[in-house]
Order: sequence, then structure tokens, then C-alpha cells
Amino acid sequence: MKKLLYVASECVPFVKTGGLADVVGALPKEFDKEYWDIRVVIPDYTCIPPQYRDNFHYVCNFNMGVGPYIGEKYVGVMEYEYMGIKYYFIDNLEYFECFYPYGDTRYDIEKFTFFDKAVLSMLPVIDFKPDLIHCHDWQTGLIPVYLKTEFQSNPFFWGIKSMMTIHNLKFQGIWDVKTIQGLSGLPMDLFTPDKLEFNKAGNMLKGGLVYADYITTVSDTYANEIQTPYFGEGLDGLLSSRHFDMKGIVNGIDYIAYDPNTDMSIYKNYDKTNFRNYKKVNKTRLQEDLDLAVDDKKYMIGLISRLTDQKGLDLINYCIEGIVDDFTQLVVIGTGESQYENMFRHYAWKYPDRVSANICYDENLARKLYAAADAFLMPSRFEPCGLTQLISFRYGTVPIVRETGGLRDTVEPYNEYENTGDGFSFSNYNGDELLNTVNYSKSIFFDTRSNWNKMVERGMNKDYSWANSKGSYEELYNYLIGE
Ligand code: ADP
Repeated sequence: MKKLLYVASECVPFVKTGGLADVVGALPKEFDKEYWDIRVVIPDYTCIPPQYRDNFHYVCNFNMGVGPYIGEKYVGVMEYEYMGIKYYFIDNLEYFECFYPYGDTRYDIEKFTFFDKAVLSMLPVIDFKPDLIHCHDWQTGLIPVYLKTEFQSNPFFWGIKSMMTIHNLKFQGIWDVKTIQGLSGLPMDLFTPDKLEFNKAGNMLKGGLVYADYITTVSDTYANEIQTPYFGEGLDGLLSSRHFDMKGIVNGIDYIAYDPNTDMSIYKNYDKTNFRNYKKVNKTRLQEDLDLAVDDKKYMIGLISRLTDQKGLDLINYCIEGIVDDFTQLVVIGTGESQYENMFRHYAWKYPDRVSANICYDENLARKLYAAADAFLMPSRFEPCGLTQLISFRYGTVPIVRETGGLRDTVEPYNEYENTGDGFSFSNYNGDELLNTVNYSKSIFFDTRSNWNKMVERGMNKDYSWANSKGSYEELYNYLIGE
């Protein structure tokens, strides 16, 4: 039996702010339990819904010091089994009492430094020695570092491998060296440019990328892109130097959780045989609920996203008046930077029958929109993988994307001559290209509906369940651990 520990800052169904939580929630369940013992550990945030948190079981507790800035503190370990997977939760109310897992960057760095050391310290106490620790994003970046340095004084940790998955290179956990050294207690000689130092500051993700035995990211194209200065966020040199130990594995989505035929949140269930009739029902019911003009002939474009620079929203600002004509509606669900929240509020005020701005995080409403929309807009500046285009395929909604990262790897552009492809895409980060592409999609939607429907069908026939990607992870785990 091979033993793995996943470490992350969020995981579905307990806490989610983005795609990372979907991945950490879905992937461990895919593995055959006869051969793989995969456990997951996240912080015991008080914002985890009581339906789960009230049922956590106490496992153990101990006191732990981290660096000179973090004195001895209580570490509790809680446990919960869900759909056959064992989850651990690191309990410390001082750090994890919250409404939302992230906040002030300096404080986030402190609490995840504490979390990283607590995770490793917990292992001998619960007597679980994983063959490999699979770390996700900057919040877990110090684990490979501690594992290869301080914890090597304990034979328990000998031979444990680590792997770091980059879900988003934009966030790295950077603060001045003195603070990160003081928080982590790592020796000063690790803060050099070939290890944890980055432009004279300390960088948690960089530590993880230097010390992990292997690095993955969530699509092939993004794996190549981040080795270049434009996408590399200052780490392209390091990533190119490790390119033999690095690979892109595209994410999947949970095909049971996201299934328009069984989804309880949507107005009318459907599948690939009857979407032609039933998606319309979802559209008109959503139009009613959102006070848009009710007309099943309108072209409804959806956008569900964190509202940040990454997502290409300035391109939408540039051409939205061209997008929302008399026959087209744009429905947005998202939260994030106030400039974008206000931008969409403004257009919803200006075009109340055409634009609906839902500035909120609402899983139910999001599912209703995946089911109702004809097309889904994702003009990202960069996109490590992107899950929303995959969910769109599953719900028969045609993605319109910019060709970057995982969007390039998962959306095949429509070719009207050969009648192939399952979405629309454009290559340059440019508002006119976006508008041209949306206009082209409109012409296919309004003028050749049978071709449009075939495109929808091709998207629904795609398999972006975890089955494929799980195989690639399994191969990699076996390679790292040994058969
Ligand atoms: P990222 O990880 O960059 O935020 P992804 O496309 O990988 O983007 O994943 C986003 C996930 O979060 C999807 O499951 C999407 O449906 C969900 N999501 C994003 N914003 C919202 C929102 N405002 N309400 C509900 N779900 C949302």
C-alpha cells in the first residue's frame, strides 16, 4: 500500500475560494483504495460549515514552537472521514478562527508557516509516515524545505519524498527575509538567491520549488509558459533549471458533482440527448429570476470568476457595449477587486435587461448559470488550467477563451469548414480580437444553429473527468516512490 499526504489551504467540500479546492477535493477520491492510502490535511478553519466541523473527531494535541517570532503554541489534530478519504485538520484558534481563509498577507505567511511545521510535526504523533507529501501552492511551500532540513534530524522523516503543484504562480508568499526567517526558524544560510531568497526578500513558494523532489503544474502549456519571463513571475529561471523534474498535468472536474442530469441546483435537468429543449428552460427561468428580458431566443453569455486582473476583465470593459446588443445578454457572477465589481454593477445599471451583475460567491447560482448560458466567457490574461471552461463543456455551454495555459490545452477552436472544435478562441490580449471572436460566435449561434448544437454536443462528449489526469499522477507517484 502506498501512502500519500495531500497538504493544502483549501479543499472541497470544507472550504473553497477557487479551483485549488476543487482539485484537492476531487483527486484523492479517484485512486484505488486497495493500493493507495491518500489522506488530506488542511487547517481547521472555524468557517468550515458546521455540518462537517461539528462531526470532526479529536485525534491528539501537542505544543510546538516554530521560529523565534512564534512561541510554543497549541496544535490540535482533528479527523473526519468523507467519501472514503481521511481528512486531518490542524486546529489552532488563534490562527484559524476566521470567516474566510485568507486576509492580510503578512499574517497569512505567519499562519501557513505555522501550519506547514504543524503538518510535519503531526506525522510521528499520529504514526502516519507517507511515502510522498503532495504540496499545493505557496501556503505549503515550506514543507519540502523543513522536510529536507530541520526534520532530517529525526529518522522518521528519512525517505519521505515531496512534490509541489503550482496552481497559480502569481501568489508566492513573499515578505522580508528577517520576518520569514523569524517566523520559520529556518537557518539564515537558506536565505540565498539559489534557495529561499527572491529579490532580497524571502519567498515560501520558491523554497518549495527548490526543495521538492518534483514539480507539477496544472496544464502542459502553463508548464512551458512559466519558464518564460512573461509568465514566470520572477521564477522562470529557477523553473527552467528544474524543467527535467517538472510536468504539466491538466486538471479534471468531478463528473458526479457536476452533472446537468442530476444537479439539484438547476431548474431543469438535461443531458446530451435533450439539451436542445431543456437548456432553454434553464435560460428563461434564470432570466426571470435575474430580472432580465425573458426570451429564450437571446444569446446568453455567462461569466463566473474571481474578479481580478488575471481574468482579462479589462478586455470586457473595452468591448462590452459591442457584446451586449439587442439579442445578447451577459450574466456575471463573481467577487474580487472593487474596480471590476463596480464596472459590472455600472453596466447592469445601464443595460438592466441585458446585463446582470451578481457580485457574490454563490455555488447554486453558478450552477444555474452554467446550465442556462449558451456561451461562457474567459478572456484570461493567464490561466494555469481553468475549471470553469471544463464545467461549461459538461453543461453544454460553449467556451469563448483566450489561448493561454489550460484554456489552450482544453478548448479546441471551432472550424466551420470541417465542423470540428468545441469552443471559440483568440490569441492576443486585445479587446478587438475578443469582440471579433464573440461576434463570430454570435453568427454561428444565430445563423447556423445546427452547427452550433453539434459543437455543444462535441463539448458534452468530451471527457474531462479525473480519470485521465489521475493516470498521469499515478504514473508520477510510482516513479517518485518506486514501484
Ligand atoms: P481560479 O482557481 O483561478 O479561481 P478556476 O476556473 O480554476 O479559477 O476555478 C474557479 C472555481 O470557482 C470554479 O469551480 C467556479 O465555478 C468557482 N467560482 C468562481 N467564482 C465563483 C462565484 N462567484 N460563485 C460561485 N462559484 C465561483
